[in-house]
Amino acid sequence: MPINAAPRDHPELLKAQLLVGAKQFPLMYLVLTVNLWTLASCFIGVAPHWLSLIVPILFTIAFGYRALTWHKMEDASTNPDFAFLALKSVRRRALIFSGFLVIWMLMLFPHGNGDMHVRIGFFAAMNCIGLVIFFQRLHSSAYAIMGITITPIIMFAIYTQNSNLTSIMVNIGLVSLLLLIVVRMQTQDFIDMVNARIKLERIGAENLQIANQDSLTGLTNRRQFFSHLEVAFEIAKKKNKRIAIGIIDLDGFKPVNDLYGHAMGDSLLIEVGQRLSALTDEHTSVSRLGGDEFAITFTNCPDDAELLDRGNKFCDTLREPFTIADACLEISGSIGFATFPELAEDAEELYERADYALYHSKHNNRGEAFLFSHKHIQEIDAQNKLEQTLSRANLKDEMSVVFQPIIDCKIQQTVAFEALARWNSPKMGSVSPCHFIPAAERLGLIGNLTKILLEKALSVAVKWPNYIRLSFNLSAHDICSAEGISRILGIIHASGIDANRLDFEITETAMMHDRDQAITSIEMLKMLGCGIALDDFGTGYSSLTQLHAMPLTKIKIDRSFVIDLNEYSASFKIVKSLIALSSDMDIGCILEGVETAEELTAIESLGGQFIQGYFYSKPLLESELAEFIEETSSLRHADTH
Ligand code: C2E
Ligand code: CA
Ligand code: CA
Repeated sequence: MPINAAPRDHPELLKAQLLVGAKQFPLMYLVLTVNLWTLASCFIGVAPHWLSLIVPILFTIAFGYRALTWHKMEDASTNPDFAFLALKSVRRRALIFSGFLVIWMLMLFPHGNGDMHVRIGFFAAMNCIGLVIFFQRLHSSAYAIMGITITPIIMFAIYTQNSNLTSIMVNIGLVSLLLLIVVRMQTQDFIDMVNARIKLERIGAENLQIANQDSLTGLTNRRQFFSHLEVAFEIAKKKNKRIAIGIIDLDGFKPVNDLYGHAMGDSLLIEVGQRLSALTDEHTSVSRLGGDEFAITFTNCPDDAELLDRGNKFCDTLREPFTIADACLEISGSIGFATFPELAEDAEELYERADYALYHSKHNNRGEAFLFSHKHIQEIDAQNKLEQTLSRANLKDEMSVVFQPIIDCKIQQTVAFEALARWNSPKMGSVSPCHFIPAAERLGLIGNLTKILLEKALSVAVKWPNYIRLSFNLSAHDICSAEGISRILGIIHASGIDANRLDFEITETAMMHDRDQAITSIEMLKMLGCGIALDDFGTGYSSLTQLHAMPLTKIKIDRSFVIDLNEYSASFKIVKSLIALSSDMDIGCILEGVETAEELTAIESLGGQFIQGYFYSKPLLESELAEFIEETSSLRHADTH
């Protein structure tokens, strides 16, 4: 790179030069002023006042002004245009000042003797060396200054025929020349250093981008999401602004990955990222947190209604089918929102609360946006309390099993009992399994809990007449780990029960954790002779077409379909086709949560046969079972007679 005083095309060098100037030039003017007055003081009283006093004062004022101007330039060193203009004028000013100083020195010459002449030469040499040193970053200026300062003095020395002065001046001229060569080398070093720094900064910026970007979707990654969130939080706090984050989790992504492979899954994630980004504006940004989890940050959060409305638009766009490599993929996404300042004190809390809202959304409003509210803070406290109590509980003593009959309504007979877990905590009283089962899953206690409950249920079921089956609920961990399923097989074996009398209920959500292992576990249970019932059918991802791909012996139609079962409802049509389908596929169909005679009549009119619900019975204690079995079998006998 050519050495140039003000390289227009190299903004970084310009800025670096200006910064050096801003630091060094005030000092240079101080050195010049000291030199100036050292010489001037020798001529006071010898030369006229205007020359020995007034001119130095004028120089001092000009130097002081320039020193101050440069001192202030440090702040402006980030602007390359300004740096260019400032540096361009440096050489001109330096030459003007040097020129005036030379004229002043030459004017002093006639007023001094040989000794004084040497002092003038010495002053010129000092100025020259000093300026060359200070101008080393502006090399071409250094040349000019040297030329203009030292040449006339050498010429003048030769002209005066003062041999001492001439040899000193020639000596200084040579030293200055050598200095220039050194300066030239240093200038190149300086340029190289600036260039190396630019290169390093560029590599650093590239690395930063890689570290902050999700390589698959090109969106900001988890790390960058959190650092943006921290910044947004600080700004929101200072400016009293409202911010929100939404965490999105895709529903049905894992089956796509399992069925079509990872390449297809990746393409789907890329398109999801594009669809979400298409709905953002300057106050909204999308990040990928990992897997099938995305986040949306609202730095200028609208009111709750609008926030939910915008959230639902994100959900809507995910529900639109994706066409990838000729396959039509259907997924959905749930969003959990949390807002600041109402519902969180720091970025971490905001994230945790949005995550809680997401969990809520996935369980209660799947495929929709859900906003964290004050009542959830109490829920979280209650959940923490429950988890603490459960982790310290004596599971064997505190857990028990109740049994809810499943009735064949055609013959009015109990055909099975579903075992349902109950926890009677000495600290918290009776706790619903809807709360303690998920808590046990979170705490990693579910394996042990299943063992205790299954052993208890089997010890009761072995005493029933042979035609009554036991239906038992399994969790994700039980079927999605080899260890879980082998423990269950061991318990069945140890109980001595005929495995043909057992049904295991599983939900699709439980299967999702590891579909391959779940299928293997199910096959093992089936080989033993157990039945497999798909629980809560209709609330998961199941589509009728996928049903045959699962090794099932029964489906249990969820209570939500039974609730709005009137002749014209969608539920009516769904239940009707499910009953027909299960009959075609030769698998059992149980209708859950039948509470009224009207519901039963409607189900019967559709050909439904197996009923579970409060209409027949609530879950019963072990001690109540014999009587119930007796009653239903007598009912049947009364019917058949
Ligand atoms: P689930 O497997 O769907 O069990 C049926 C739930 O519906 C039971 O609630 C039962 O009491 C209730 N139910 C039955 N008939 C009716 C009705 O006519 N109306 C209404 N409103 N509800 C009815 P429960 O016992 O509170 O169990 C809730 C959930 O907890 C179960 O849902 C199941 O998912 C889970 N659970 C219960 N016991 C176990 C267990 O031993 N292991 C595992 N992994 N989960 C269990
Ligand atoms: Ca069940
Ligand atoms: Ca169920």
